[in-house]
Amino acid sequence: MNCDPFQDSAPLIQPLGRQETVGVRVGGVQIGGNGPIVVQSMTNTDTADVDSTVEQVAALAKAGSEIVRITVDRDEAAAGVPKIRERLDRLGINVPLVGDFHYIGHKLLADHPACAEALSKYRINPGNVGFKDKKDKQFAQIIEMAIKYDKPVRIGVNWGSLDQALLTSLMDENSQKGSPLSADEVMREAIVRSALLSAEEAERIGLGRDKIILSAKVSEVQNLIAVYAELAKRSNHALHLGLTEAGMGTKGIVASSAALGILLQQGIGDTIRISLTPEPGGDRTREVQVAQELLQVMGFRSFVPIVAACPGCGRTTSTTFQELAAKIQGQLRQNMPVWREKYPGVEELKVAVMGCIVNGPGESKHADIGISLPGTGETPAAPVFIDGQKAVTLRGAGIAEEFEELVQDYVKTRYGAEGEKESPAA
Ligand code: SF4
Repeated sequence: MNCDPFQDSAPLIQPLGRQETVGVRVGGVQIGGNGPIVVQSMTNTDTADVDSTVEQVAALAKAGSEIVRITVDRDEAAAGVPKIRERLDRLGINVPLVGDFHYIGHKLLADHPACAEALSKYRINPGNVGFKDKKDKQFAQIIEMAIKYDKPVRIGVNWGSLDQALLTSLMDENSQKGSPLSADEVMREAIVRSALLSAEEAERIGLGRDKIILSAKVSEVQNLIAVYAELAKRSNHALHLGLTEAGMGTKGIVASSAALGILLQQGIGDTIRISLTPEPGGDRTREVQVAQELLQVMGFRSFVPIVAACPGCGRTTSTTFQELAAKIQGQLRQNMPVWREKYPGVEELKVAVMGCIVNGPGESKHADIGISLPGTGETPAAPVFIDGQKAVTLRGAGIAEEFEELVQDYVKTRYGAEGEKESPAA
């Protein structure tokens, strides 16, 4: 039986090289220009509620979000932004904040200079910066604000709020053709064109290309892949990837991973957000975890040590190994904010938790540290392998706790500074 958990970690097909884009600085973070693919997220608190927003931004940053977007929808929210920035700075959290503006962004930025200053980027949607004849004027006002405050702008087209005038004109143009495109194709072209024309206009007003990030989000996987492939072909702007309205639970995760995985594999995308709908009362940081895991399993970046566990089968009638695998993964993730600083390189650690003797010892040897638990009917002994060698055999009721300690010791020994290193536990 094949239950090798590491078998999928070395891709047989290497990703294509990243498509080179113009790098954009967002606070202290670089997007594009061959920088690492950046993970970002968005709050769902009322930005006017400073306490809740600070708390959620802090949680997202702690989970690993490198940029956090917040809604700026009215005066009270705009007034809250500098307070949020100040509170985060006092907590030592320097994650860049992005303001999400719709309809009245031009006015909010003009009326709240402290907000315009505190944000590290403005996100606008060309489909709703304003209506009819006010649209171009208000778009220009926001771009001028960005120039004044030296901030980058994400021009984020979203098919749910696509520029209707542009779509209508493309539909009319298409209907005159001998072989008209399908409605889907016209919609995709309108999304791409809306992003490119808006970027062109922003540059004409005076915003540098190194201050512009583009996104073009749709909610259907094949359309998203087609839109971004076209956008990447027709421009060298830094690209923010995301499947909008991805949905809840496994559907949201699968759809986002399928769409973004294919684009990233083609070298498209400089920053990602996984737009999951949280379960009621669910943890907002889940979207950060999924984004990190997507980048890590594809081999683009490492964030948290990987715990590989076999799927289990009829040889494991107890849940011991599932519980241990979950516990170890949870503990590693919880330790990461401190370990990231203290143990450089620890994010590359591989831990294995295997269910029985069939493949347990063999696969545990492939990990940095692995344990092979006793399957049903086996002698109640759990050999632990460290760097490919059998180091110790654990027995009795305290196997889980003892293995956790061994993992902690391994991390200190391998990744700690000289003074902190201990002799190997075994
Ligand atoms: S319990 Fe044993 S045989 Fe079953 S999946 Fe795990 S390692 Fe493989």
